[in-house]
Amino acid sequence: MSISENQQRLLKKLPGVDHVLEIIRNDNSYDHVPHSVVLSSIRSVIEKLRQSVLDNNEEITDDHFANTFIFNKVSSAIVKKMTLNLKRTINAAGVVVHTNLGRSLLSDEAVKHVTDTAQRYSNLEFNIETGKRGLRYSAVEDIICEISGAEAALAVNNNAGAVLLALDTVANGKEVIVSRGELVEIGGSFRIPDVMTKSGGILKEVGTTNRTHKKDYDDAVNDNTGLLLKVHTSNYSVVGFTASVSLEDMVAIGKEKNIPVMDDLGSGTFIDLSKYGLSKEPTVQESVEAGVDIITFSGDKLLGGPQAGIIVGKQKYIDKIKKNPLTRALRVDKMTLAALESTLRLYRDEKKAVSIIPTLRMLTMPIEKTEETANIIIEKLTSITRGKNKLTVKSLDLSSRAGGGSLPLLDLPSKCVGIMIEGLSASSLEKKLRFNTPAIIGRIEDDVLILDPRTIQDDEPELIKTAFENILL
Ligand SMILES: *Cc1c(COP(=O)(O)O)cnc(C)c1O
Repeated sequence: MSISENQQRLLKKLPGVDHVLEIIRNDNSYDHVPHSVVLSSIRSVIEKLRQSVLDNNEEITDDHFANTFIFNKVSSAIVKKMTLNLKRTINAAGVVVHTNLGRSLLSDEAVKHVTDTAQRYSNLEFNIETGKRGLRYSAVEDIICEISGAEAALAVNNNAGAVLLALDTVANGKEVIVSRGELVEIGGSFRIPDVMTKSGGILKEVGTTNRTHKKDYDDAVNDNTGLLLKVHTSNYSVVGFTASVSLEDMVAIGKEKNIPVMDDLGSGTFIDLSKYGLSKEPTVQESVEAGVDIITFSGDKLLGGPQAGIIVGKQKYIDKIKKNPLTRALRVDKMTLAALESTLRLYRDEKKAVSIIPTLRMLTMPIEKTEETANIIIEKLTSITRGKNKLTVKSLDLSSRAGGGSLPLLDLPSKCVGIMIEGLSASSLEKKLRFNTPAIIGRIEDDVLILDPRTIQDDEPELIKTAFENILL
């Protein structure tokens, strides 16, 4: 590769590390920053500049070699390195169980329990009564059984792990009968057929995408059948000419042929949400009552707790699962157990659960409350003086979503705030909000930036105002 004269000239202008270091150290702003961070920031800026010259990037001019330009570049590199990667984000998208934004928020009770357990020793695997070794699962087993009505329970790392573990325990080397309409893929490439393969289970599909009948299961059962599996299609819905086999029918077949029945509920809720104006999702208790042997669900979808996978069911199968060596690989840590235990205890009082568990509170939030927050945001934004004439803010009747692969068809009516800034496209505004600290994640509808109050927390309208003050500067 030949290098032009201009490129050679620019390469000679590249500053040395020591020279830039002196400029940075002359400014006291970075005195607290570790030397290694300053050095690596300088090196990466110089290296980027060198690469741009070598690539013959036409945007590179002499200005890019000026001290102030380099200083600013290194400054932003330092700030980026010194900022935590995992950080607070404002969910203004109106998707309650937003997988990309951390799914469920913990209640104050759960957070306090996590802090206490993390900062102090605990009886994680110690039985205080006997003074001997205890079992870590015992912290949550009783409360899960109390709420669900199940004989036994176990919590693991996540529901994907719970499904894998259950299949590996009961169906390794055996056929697992699943309806074609239930071979779901959950975001992040978790596909039932793939998990089946990993667990050593042999997938036996029955029925068609839209219709599966009891006879399909009856005909598919043979000597090598290890499990009848139902998968709750929690993130989509087959509508129209459909038929599926009820859990009761599956349990009847299982009893008759002596084959266990498993129900992967995915979203897993303890509360019949249709009482609160949402659509009906199957509850864990219904599955238990139907006589299902193994039931799996997430801790951080509709349950509103920490990331976890919960397995409940018949003692016989849960005991087998507990003995599977994979259980150790999927075990939950003490912070998860603490958050889970405290979240689960809130379910003893359903009203309390719905008002205190953030996921349930936001899902059942009345439109009046979204309107109240929308008005607060509108008031704050219209009180901004600088650049005020460029700003258009209006209230819009739109819908929020449950998210997290839950309640796929459900629209939750929400009073939203639509915002336009003259001279700025909706996508540029969306980007500016995303780059704010904390990042604000809105959505765009019909070329208008939308903030949905349903998922905006009480202390956030003020932060949103500050973001707009900066954008309008
Ligand atoms: C979400 C989901 C899973 C995976 O659960 P994670 O908690 O995300 O691991 C498995 N099965 C179904 C049906 C689901 O909806």
